[in-house]
Amino acid sequence: MFSMEEIQRIRDEFPILARKINQNQLVYLDNGASSQKPRQVIDAIDNFYQSEYANVHRGLHHLSNIATEKYEEVRNKIARFINAKNTDEIIYTSGSTEGINIVAYSWAWPRLKAGDEIILSVLEHHANIVPWNFLRERSGIVIKWVEPDQFGNLEPLAFQDQITDKTKLISVTQVSNVLGTVVDVKSIIEIGHNFGIPVLVDASQSAVHQAIDVQNLDVDFLVFTGHKIYGPTASGALYVKEEHLGNFVPFKGGGDMIDEVTRDHITYAKPPRMLEAGTPAIAQMIGLGVAIDYVTALGMNKIQAHEKSVRDYALERFAELNWLKLHGSPKDQAAIFSFTMGEVAHPHDLSTILDQKGIAVRAGHHCAQPLMNFLGVNATCRASFALYNTKEEVDKLVDGLILCRKLFD
Ligand code: PLP
Repeated sequence: MFSMEEIQRIRDEFPILARKINQNQLVYLDNGASSQKPRQVIDAIDNFYQSEYANVHRGLHHLSNIATEKYEEVRNKIARFINAKNTDEIIYTSGSTEGINIVAYSWAWPRLKAGDEIILSVLEHHANIVPWNFLRERSGIVIKWVEPDQFGNLEPLAFQDQITDKTKLISVTQVSNVLGTVVDVKSIIEIGHNFGIPVLVDASQSAVHQAIDVQNLDVDFLVFTGHKIYGPTASGALYVKEEHLGNFVPFKGGGDMIDEVTRDHITYAKPPRMLEAGTPAIAQMIGLGVAIDYVTALGMNKIQAHEKSVRDYALERFAELNWLKLHGSPKDQAAIFSFTMGEVAHPHDLSTILDQKGIAVRAGHHCAQPLMNFLGVNATCRASFALYNTKEEVDKLVDGLILCRKLFD
């Protein structure tokens, strides 16, 4: 847990948190969409462009060497951050969306044929649905779905029920971006492996709230996105367990991913380079490395403990609002809450009124329309907390919701 002084110091490191929005102190509760950036990340990007910028790889001059070194060093940081066995298992991506697309196109597409099945959960973000739908449209694969229970939990054995001899992959989120459900992915991976089925974990929402250990999970593929863990947009990583690396075909074609190009024949570099064509997001990946240093120095366990105490306080305060419909009450929940006010007010109206008070929440389907459909709503309002949020901010949110209720009464 952080002390009050530590939280204040952390908040001071995020310049944007000092901003006023509509004459009110910003209360930023849209971290599930993207988190704010600490000065360390902003300065690292600024410094890189001011005094170290050049393209990476192949350059022999001083700046290119520095840029390459800094850029490649991030691979080690990511490997340590998720406890990968070696750095070749880390593929740089522009975020989770690209990571899942790489697995879909470069691993699944060449291997799966019509009638083969993959299993998804109804909690998934569209980023873990649409790439598989492409395979459904183009190759005739079948998508099977695991539903959550009425509280928003995903029961690992429900995945086993969907497995057949045609199942080729299970792809599941570790934390729901809508309900905050923390999914027992370790048990799902165990079940998958008992049947010889690899498992992809979408850690977009979990990597920011809890420590990730890919070796302990024994996961086959895992994606996370940099901008949700206090890093820049267009940064992220795909982890591929070593034994699968040889089964990937190239994703995008272009510079940096080849071994040799002749007029008639091309040979490709080995992964990870084979999957990283073109000039990459150099400054962004360097910024992501600094963001990883930042959370690592604070300690993922401490971050998780702080967020849990804010979550528990929020649940206590929400319980006072008997007119507020909180969607889901999973056994284990990250500090992410979706709520509606029934017929009283549309989530977009709630969000607009809260914004007048400087409170940033998200309203909409959160790129999870199958889940919205399961919940029987078109949209919810979502408050998602991060390491710099406080119980006072929970109080401000609750005051804002009480105001909404009065306005619509
Ligand atoms: N998966 C989950 C659970 C998410 O919440 C998100 C983003 O909100 C994504 C995937 C996609 O991440 P990105 O847009 O950074 O690629």
